[in-house]
Amino acid sequence: MHYKKIELCTKGNKTVNQSEVQELLRHFLFVLNCNGQILSDYKVILQNNYALYVTTPKQDSLSEKYDSPYVKKARKKITELFAVCVEDCGIDTQSQSYCNCKNRSAIEMQTAEYDTDSVFTCCDCGKPVALYELPLLKDSEDYCRIQTWQHNYADTDRLWMNGLFDRFTGNQRVNFDSALNKLGRKIADEMSENLGCPVYYHLASDYGKKVKLQEVGNEKLHVCPKCGKIMKRMEISEKYKIDVCAECRLSYDVDKD
Ligand SMILES: [Zn+2]
Ligand SMILES: [Zn+2]
Repeated sequence: MHYKKIELCTKGNKTVNQSEVQELLRHFLFVLNCNGQILSDYKVILQNNYALYVTTPKQDSLSEKYDSPYVKKARKKITELFAVCVEDCGIDTQSQSYCNCKNRSAIEMQTAEYDTDSVFTCCDCGKPVALYELPLLKDSEDYCRIQTWQHNYADTDRLWMNGLFDRFTGNQRVNFDSALNKLGRKIADEMSENLGCPVYYHLASDYGKKVKLQEVGNEKLHVCPKCGKIMKRMEISEKYKIDVCAECRLSYDVDKD
């Protein structure tokens, strides 16, 4: 949402080892991304000083109060070497505006190729939820596991979309029990337990091959692939409607035809 430039000016006349600094900056950006404080398309530019160009979900995402232990450690090393100056560059139109709801009744977990925003979407306002606002998964000190799943999903989606359309990538996206979807559902279920509200795991549709629809009144509702019951339509906004199974916590986009 917010595009920022983080300029680093060497403190006093300290000399720094360039390759060590570049490794430190790479690590700093990686752990910031793992914690959801920046999105994954960041850049390091060297002119007179180092400048880090990042997209943050919210205006205050770089605030120390959200730091994971890894970010804290890297930030300390950076501030020992550099004076840090953050500048707002405007709105990154490739990224969405983020959820500010006080309470959320449900969340949907979904992503797609080239989508670098949070995988969690608030079902009350339809906007993505910043990862660092959510509880941590078991044995984790940041959201790295969720980011890894996001990258794997995007890569599979891209491979399928870029013309392979093969059985393997198709199956990974559509079958609720595929290795990719199992991993995602495990994350969604754990998040749901931690939050105390449903986290629906979004499934891709294959437009009628395996994914079933049933006509109810003048609507075509999805049939849950896990329990076989007819799903319920949830209207998040006029443009954003999903079919959900409350029991199995699965969701589909509503067919646009
Ligand atoms: Zn919201
Ligand atoms: Zn079900």
